[in-house]
Amino acid sequence: MDAAEFRRRGKEMVDFVADYQENIEHRRVYPDVEPGYLRSMIPSEAPLEPESYEDVLRDVDRVIMPGVTHWLSPHFYAYYANSTSFPSILADLLSSGIGTIGFTWAANPACSELETVMLDWLGKMLQLPEDFLSETQGQGGGVIQGTASEATLMALLSARLKTVKCVQESDPQRSEADIISKLIAYTSEEAHSSVEKASIIGGVVIRMVPTDEHFSVRAETLEKMVAEDKATGYIPFFFCATLGTTPCCAFDKIDELGPICNAENIWMHIDAAYAGCAFICPEFRPLLNGVEFADSFSINPNKFLLVGFDCSAIMMWVLKGFYFFLPLHLFSTSLSPHLSSDSQHWGIPMARRFRSLKLWFVFRMYGLRGLQAFIRKHVELAKTFENLVRGDNNFEICAEVVMGLVCFRLKGSDELNKALLKQITRTGKIYLVPCKLRGRFVLRFVVCGRTTELRHIQEAWKHITELSSELLQNLFDHEGKEN
Ligand code: PLP
Repeated sequence: MDAAEFRRRGKEMVDFVADYQENIEHRRVYPDVEPGYLRSMIPSEAPLEPESYEDVLRDVDRVIMPGVTHWLSPHFYAYYANSTSFPSILADLLSSGIGTIGFTWAANPACSELETVMLDWLGKMLQLPEDFLSETQGQGGGVIQGTASEATLMALLSARLKTVKCVQESDPQRSEADIISKLIAYTSEEAHSSVEKASIIGGVVIRMVPTDEHFSVRAETLEKMVAEDKATGYIPFFFCATLGTTPCCAFDKIDELGPICNAENIWMHIDAAYAGCAFICPEFRPLLNGVEFADSFSINPNKFLLVGFDCSAIMMWVLKGFYFFLPLHLFSTSLSPHLSSDSQHWGIPMARRFRSLKLWFVFRMYGLRGLQAFIRKHVELAKTFENLVRGDNNFEICAEVVMGLVCFRLKGSDELNKALLKQITRTGKIYLVPCKLRGRFVLRFVVCGRTTELRHIQEAWKHITELSSELLQNLFDHEGKEN
């Protein structure tokens, strides 16, 4: 493909994407395919000779589209959203087109510098303490990680390195292996599985902290566990707080947990993957009070800030000095004016894409006000859904609705709710996923789409109640027969 053909095909592809998104609500949101569907539809080996672009594109329609779960559909209410937007898609195209890789300042000055400045912009939008910003000449600052899971892992590894150094300063004879075997991390029993995964990769023990009736970790619970573990020779070193848990969007009390972590020399990382984006709205910002006690903080703009996945997915700020994943002497001399610009030291991969372009395009083309309006609209739609659920005596709300997530269930058994979800998934009109809250099977309804409107929420609720009425009628008939 030469530049002339690329120009033509590129325009066609933009049309394809625009058409796809404009008409997405008419597609079945969850695909009707079985596992392994794709293998039989394409050859088992790569072609020896080049094929035409037309052939490839034809197979996008034939092979790919039937197996796509349409995350951008207004009928998609699962997980937490992937909230991309047209400016973000264009920035991604530009990033791919430039094809540059930034890991030191010299490898791509614009990439290194824009990322640093964009994270400062974001930090200010979130009203983070100045120590988190790189412009303040402190040791704080941020980089873009691929995912929240990577950010948590980086925080845990940094905390491990810091603690090993501290312990060895007071006890130089003690080996690193011995210290690591005694390290203990903590997180909420409601935390995302990526925190436990980080502890496994980091080779440290982790304890799950029980939550209160609001699914929040409280200070006295953590304090007690830390005291118990210290008494048996463990070294508490890391606590991952969650703001906006995955099952029900609960918030750990970081303003009371932070002082304990600081007093005990425990690194506090805050995983605010989804909910953190909403802290750009003053009405939600109080939930972040206590961030001043944290060592690191991460959010996923791709979940709730109109930035597409992966590129510019996660930011991580580090307070009170960042402990590089690998000791500095392992790296060649930096050519950058600021060491903190060498983002290769802040994550696992060396090479990095130009992901900050997405933030730049989206922040400029929506403005803070536009992004706030987007978040508020989602929260309002979720409240509407909550009211519809509350208005129906067959259903119950299972957790406080703070942002765009509503946890609800049919009053009755887990089996009944599983049957309802099965019907919802089978019909493919809307897509939801479940969670467990206090051992009960619960349905999660997350307002996800950029184009989700009130009518979609009303249609979704109508669909859910129609399916549930059928189920309840069947149950009633069945019980009637048995009696
Ligand atoms: N942390 C929280 C609170 C989440 O809700 C999620 C995913 O929804 C994750 C971490 C994992 O995110 P990622 O896929 O970016 O690693």
